[in-house]
Amino acid sequence: MSAHDEGRTWLPPTDHPRLLAAWAETGAATGFAAHRLRYGPLPQVEGAELIDLVARSGLRGRGGAGFPTARKLRAVADGRGRRTVVANGCEGDPAGAKDGVLLELAPHLVLDGIVLAARAVGAAEAFLCVHAGSRLVHTLSAVLAGRRSDGVEVELAEIPRRFVASEETALVNALTTGDARPTVSPPRPARRGVRGRPTLVDNVETLAHIALIARHGDRWFREAGTRDSPGTTLVTVGGAVALPGVYEIDLGMPVADVLALAGGATEPLSAIQIGGLGGSWLPLPYACRMPLTHEDARAAGAALGVAAIVAFPQRACGVAETARVLRYLADESAGQCGPCMFGLPAVADDMAVLAGAADRSGAVLHRLHTRLDVIPGRGACAHPDGAVRFAAGALRVFAADVARHAHGVPCAWAASPSWLPVPGNRREGAR
Ligand code: SF4
Repeated sequence: MSAHDEGRTWLPPTDHPRLLAAWAETGAATGFAAHRLRYGPLPQVEGAELIDLVARSGLRGRGGAGFPTARKLRAVADGRGRRTVVANGCEGDPAGAKDGVLLELAPHLVLDGIVLAARAVGAAEAFLCVHAGSRLVHTLSAVLAGRRSDGVEVELAEIPRRFVASEETALVNALTTGDARPTVSPPRPARRGVRGRPTLVDNVETLAHIALIARHGDRWFREAGTRDSPGTTLVTVGGAVALPGVYEIDLGMPVADVLALAGGATEPLSAIQIGGLGGSWLPLPYACRMPLTHEDARAAGAALGVAAIVAFPQRACGVAETARVLRYLADESAGQCGPCMFGLPAVADDMAVLAGAADRSGAVLHRLHTRLDVIPGRGACAHPDGAVRFAAGALRVFAADVARHAHGVPCAWAASPSWLPVPGNRREGAR
C-alpha cells in the first residue's frame, strides 16, 4: 500500500485523515463512482452563502502564506466580467510532495473543490495546473475525461518545472502569455489575472478542503486544528526519519509528534528544516515542541510554506547544506529583478566560501550578513525573500558551526551528500 511520486516512495498516511480518508481505508486511489458513493453529489451551495461558510470555517491557504481563503474568494467574486479559477498543483519547491499525492489519491475531491470555488466566485472556467511532463498529466487527463463538467469547464494546464513557476502571478502569466515567470503585482490576480479576468488562484489542497467544508460544514472543519489554524493539513516529512512520506495531520500538532508519525528520528538531530527550500531552519529542542501552525511558525521566524519538514541529522553540515540550497535557489531566479538575479548568486558564493572554510578573515561572513539585510522586499516576487530567510536561519541555528567555518575550520561532514531534496544533489539512497 504505497503511492509513488517521481521516484520516491510515499507511505500510507495515518492518524485520522480527512482528505486521504478514502485511500487510508481502501489503499487505492478513488475513482469517480466510488467518490460519489462516498461523498454523494456536489452540495447545492454557491455564491455568497458558500463564501460565508468558508469564512466561518477559518480555512487558510495550504500552498504557502496561509492567506484566509474566504478573503480571496470574496475579492474575485467582487470583480467585474468573466472570472477564472486556477488550481495550483505544481509544487515548484522540490521539498513538497503533498499536492502530487493528493491529486493522485483523491483527484475528485480536488475537482469538486474547483467546481465549488468556481460557483462561489461566479466562474464557468477553471485551469488545473501541474508540472509539464509529470505522471499526473496522464492520470488527470483520464480523470477529467471520465467526469461530467458540473457547469464548469476544467482544463488541464502543463506548467514548466521551475521553482518560481508555481508562484501565483507566474501561473497567471503562463496561462495568459505562455511565459511562466512571476510578474509585478499589484494588481493581484483577484483583480486582473488570466487574460485580464478576475482570477482565483488556490492550492489544490485548499480546494479539496472547500469540497469537504461544503459537505460537512464549518463546525466540523474546526473540530481539528487550532482556533487560528483550523483543520487538517498534508505535510511532507523527510530527512533522518524511519518512514519519510506524506502525512495528514491536525494543524497544531507538535513537530515531535509529526516526526513520530513518520517512524521517529533514526539518529540524533541537530535541527529541523521547515517550509521547503523557501522556508527556514529551526533549532532543537525548540522545534520539536513547536505546534505546527502558521502563527507558531511565523513567531519562530519561519513559515509553513509548502508544509515540508526535514529532520536534519547531527552528522550533516548545515552550512554546506545551506550553500547547496542557495546555489539551487540562485539558479532558479527568473532573471528579471536585479537583487534576485545578482544578489542570490552572490549570497550563494559567500555561503560556499563559508562552507569550505576558505576565508579566515571574517570578511565573507560580514559581507554575507550585509547582503542578507539589503535583498528582502526588492524582488517582484517572494523568491529572494525565501532564499534570504533560509540563509539567515542557517546562520542563526548553526551559529557554532558558522563560527568554526569562519575561522577556517570546516566540519567533517561539509562534503557529505544532501539531506534536503536539492535537485541533482539527492542523498545516496534517500527516498
Ligand atoms: S524576484 Fe527573482 S524570481 Fe521573482 S520575479 Fe524577480 S527575478 Fe524572478
